[in-house]
Amino acid sequence: MNILDGKKIRDELFISLKKRLSNCDKTLVIIMVGDREDSKRYVKHKIIWADKLGIKTKMILCSDVVPEEKLISTIENLNNDETVGGIILQLPLPESINKQKVLNSISVEKDIDALGDFAWEKIESGEDCIYPATATGIITMLDYYNITLKDKKVTVVGRSKLVGKPIAILLEKRGAIVTVCHSKTTNTKEETKSADIIVSATGVPKLITKEYVSTGQVIIDVGINEGLVGDVDYEEVSKIVDYITPVPGGIGPMTIISIFENFAKLVGK
Ligand code: NDP
Repeated sequence: MNILDGKKIRDELFISLKKRLSNCDKTLVIIMVGDREDSKRYVKHKIIWADKLGIKTKMILCSDVVPEEKLISTIENLNNDETVGGIILQLPLPESINKQKVLNSISVEKDIDALGDFAWEKIESGEDCIYPATATGIITMLDYYNITLKDKKVTVVGRSKLVGKPIAILLEKRGAIVTVCHSKTTNTKEETKSADIIVSATGVPKLITKEYVSTGQVIIDVGINEGLVGDVDYEEVSKIVDYITPVPGGIGPMTIISIFENFAKLVGK
């Protein structure tokens, strides 16, 4: 069994990315609504990496009762601000806010997470564009380890707009034969067992047990669940398969570096 080491790849990509961004004077703005502990942790992590890369950041903190219109007008001002190179709206938002409406207010030229409808239209049309960072990070990792995708059967478990859907599109673009399973799929186990590569992004701790896998497979565990547990039962599954991502240290670092790859692309670096 081989470990797919996201930290190692992140640290290698970091060096060239820092060079690319060395004369970038644009600011990355991160908007956080409310004070969820997990969101604070994720935002802090993004700011730490932005600092290391020499990217200027600005945090905008909004109360969890901020009116939707106020949030949208804040974003519109950032869209019109030439010093701003990219905008991240930290999710989740409070239930009272229409998440997609607010995401759609981020200009496509500044939409680092590519979660607005305009970014999504580009993704679906197959245009050369930026993708949600986790999906890009997974492809970068597979390429790094020379894991070919053409004609490979890949089963993606999870179909969110953040991870499952974009990774399925990217894999198909690369010639893989992709099956997507979700919470209503009744034969997930068969679909994963017969795959060459499994990508799991469900948020269900240890969903992928030894019964879901076969020898020779590549396992990409996107899940980050309570207690830093992935979607995959690492101890059991790692004894069977050829390649596996650890949690932490697998897709998390790939996502972080890909967020800043997206920033670099948006600012033309
Ligand atoms: P969502 O909750 O938005 O989506 C989960 C998906 O999993 C849904 O499509 C759901 O199906 C499906 N699902 C849920 N239960 C099952 C099941 N028993 N069998 C098959 N499919 C199931 O989550 P996200 O996509 O946002 O995130 C998924 C996980 O990835 C989380 O743990 C999150 O923390 C992690 N994550 C990690 C990142 C990283 O950098 N490593 C980045 C982003 C996310 P349905 O559509 O039918 O509801």
